[in-house]
Amino acid sequence: GHNNAPDYLRGLNPEQRLAVETTEGPVLVLAGAGTGKTRVLTTRIAHILATGKAFPSQILAVTFTNKAAREMKQRIGILIGEGNVEGMPWLGTFHSIGVKLLRRHAELAGLRSDFTILDTDDVVRLIKQLIQAEGLDDKRWPAKQFAQMIDGWKNKGLGPAEIPEGDARSFANGKGRELYKAYQERLQTLNACDFGDLLCHPIRIFRANPDVLKDYHRRFKYILVDEYQDTNTAQYMWLRLLAQRSDSGRGSTSTDLRSAEGRKPDQASAGQAAPAEARERSSRAAVSENKVNICCVGDDDQSIYGWRGAEVDNILRFDKDFPGATIIRLERNYRSTAHILGAASHLIAHNEGRFGKTLFTDRNDPEDGKVNVHAAWDSEEEARAIGETIEAYQRQKHNLNDMAILVRASFQMRAFEDRFITLGLNYRVIGGPRFYERMEIRDALAFFRVVANSGDDLAFERIVNVPKRGLGEATIRQIHDTARALRIPMLEAAGNLAESDELKPKPRAALREVAANFERWQKALETKPHTELAETILEESGYTDMWKNDRSAEAPGRLENLKELIRSMEEYESLRSFLEHVALVMDAEQNAGQDAVSIMTLHSAKGLEFETVFLPGWEEGLFPHQRALDEGGRSGLEEERRLAYVGLTRAKKNLHIWFVSNRLIHGLWQSTIPSRFLEELPEAHVEVAESGNSYGGYGNSYGGGSFASGRGGRQNPYGASRFDNVGANNGGTEKSGAFSNTYSTPGWQRAQANRTEATDRNWG
Ligand code: ATP
Ligand code: MG
Repeated sequence: GHNNAPDYLRGLNPEQRLAVETTEGPVLVLAGAGTGKTRVLTTRIAHILATGKAFPSQILAVTFTNKAAREMKQRIGILIGEGNVEGMPWLGTFHSIGVKLLRRHAELAGLRSDFTILDTDDVVRLIKQLIQAEGLDDKRWPAKQFAQMIDGWKNKGLGPAEIPEGDARSFANGKGRELYKAYQERLQTLNACDFGDLLCHPIRIFRANPDVLKDYHRRFKYILVDEYQDTNTAQYMWLRLLAQRSDSGRGSTSTDLRSAEGRKPDQASAGQAAPAEARERSSRAAVSENKVNICCVGDDDQSIYGWRGAEVDNILRFDKDFPGATIIRLERNYRSTAHILGAASHLIAHNEGRFGKTLFTDRNDPEDGKVNVHAAWDSEEEARAIGETIEAYQRQKHNLNDMAILVRASFQMRAFEDRFITLGLNYRVIGGPRFYERMEIRDALAFFRVVANSGDDLAFERIVNVPKRGLGEATIRQIHDTARALRIPMLEAAGNLAESDELKPKPRAALREVAANFERWQKALETKPHTELAETILEESGYTDMWKNDRSAEAPGRLENLKELIRSMEEYESLRSFLEHVALVMDAEQNAGQDAVSIMTLHSAKGLEFETVFLPGWEEGLFPHQRALDEGGRSGLEEERRLAYVGLTRAKKNLHIWFVSNRLIHGLWQSTIPSRFLEELPEAHVEVAESGNSYGGYGNSYGGGSFASGRGGRQNPYGASRFDNVGANNGGTEKSGAFSNTYSTPGWQRAQANRTEATDRNWG
């Protein structure tokens, strides 16, 4: 009964408790924001461990970011004692678990276990080489575009042979498929893989090696997945492989997979089972040794990675994939005030094609303020005003740690960073421009990568002539050709050339030195502490001296960063584990441990909560994003609205939304229109902030400072006409015309690209 329940179960509501205690068989928790889904997952793991149903190593738990994984581990530790959480090796993101699997079975994918994980930059450079090698014009067929295509295919789990004919034809005069194939082959010779391979290789390994898969079936007694609504097809295939035990003699695993691959919901369910058969299957599963103890939690309203291939359908088909699933709904929100919840629920109700959920809260504190909407003249003023509000909260003894600014696009961060630096306000950018992406850090890492994996040609190429050793393009091409001809790493080719008389004395001597250096460092890898070795490498290569002799203003900062890099390596056991960390850690935090305001994109804010949340930039074209609007149709816009819902529901107590009437985008001032999402907030839960003196007479233009009455006036000329009759030439369209022009400048695209980079690696 309730009274002798262990501590960690107390305080859960009955539905949450059911979700925790239904450990056997498939369970789906489908529930709105802040209802305790993540808490259920955490408690469920604690419960499984505390009741001895499994060892920590027998639990596979997937979170969306590494940060979330760390937090989950911590929370479980708090529930059942830290000692009991030791060694949960399979708690992490899809990608971090993917790396681990691939390291164990690399040879089955044609790799060595010390393979390198390439980042986007490496991938683009590699593809560019392949495009040029094909004799194609890389201006007409940009490498970056093809990299994105490959990424898209991999999100769907498609190898070169499986991509749709149309896709293959559309790139590089019909050479798309060949290029993709060449790319995969090249990765193999480099002993490298890209992010997508971290999922696709394991999928292929599992398919081709039933024994290996079976081993994992035995190992993973419990599988748990958070943020299930954002799994893409490849992740979904991967999960199904691990979760779905095909009964012996009935349908092999690969049959199961094929139905997943077809991925037309109806087709797949037809392939699955008729209801009677499904029941039979599930009852059989219930008595079989191999029960599918999978628990996924998610919220269809928070699916925000459609643009990265996430398939919200996955959540809708759960009970087809896992017959006999227990489906649990949680309706009580524990996070937010009634006003915040009311605003969010009302907004998301504008989407069609959703499950529809009831959400309620018991919180009814008359002190709770409404959702605040503020107007500012431009983004500088927006940043200034938010800075002031934060300081006001601070004076009322609020912690900076409890506050977050969630932006739609990463370029918005700059104004806040500048302002906060001026104010001396501590902040951290989560998922922002990162330490590891700085030039000097990438150079240093390239040295280390070659030492750890001499087949890492991309890294080798980056630093073979750094610092300058008089190796011209011709020499590098020669190294390249030799490597290709003999199918050996470039480092080895360089060594060979250094001993032959094909080169002039100067480059020969240079190459001899390079080869000797790496040979020495690789030997030291086994004997020297890795931090010491790293320092040695940077010194002996002349890299540190290069910056010491550099007269530029950035040089001292770069040297500082290099020092910081070495310092940060101390935490790791070896050079390899450090490099792995670097490849994976994308949600690195600055100012960790200090009281600081968080700045991040809405995408990275998923699953998090803060007492006070600021949502700047609610303007048409920025939010909803122009790209979503350009797509036309409902789906892009609805995904933007879900993103707004995610933003609103991050707040526990205070929520401030901002829009500006002018935005400077890459040097061009543009007038903007308030976001339609503002219109969709219910007036009962919203308060339009009085414009203070600092905002000049601005409030007046919005009709006596009341946004509600002001927006009525604005709605017609801009809001409605802009979207209903494209091309009409009233005042509103003129504005929107100027607006779309701005948003198609290369600058804006660059901003978009940055955003993509800042958010699309949430796997951490
Ligand atoms: P999201 O959809 O945003 O990821 P979620 O459903 O995962 O939200 P949680 O983050 O697990 O929700 O929980 C939201 C907040 O409510 C957390 O602070 C959590 O500790 C709290 N909470 C959850 N369940 C309970 C409960 N039974 N009693 C008290 N607080 C709870
Ligand atoms: Mg959650």
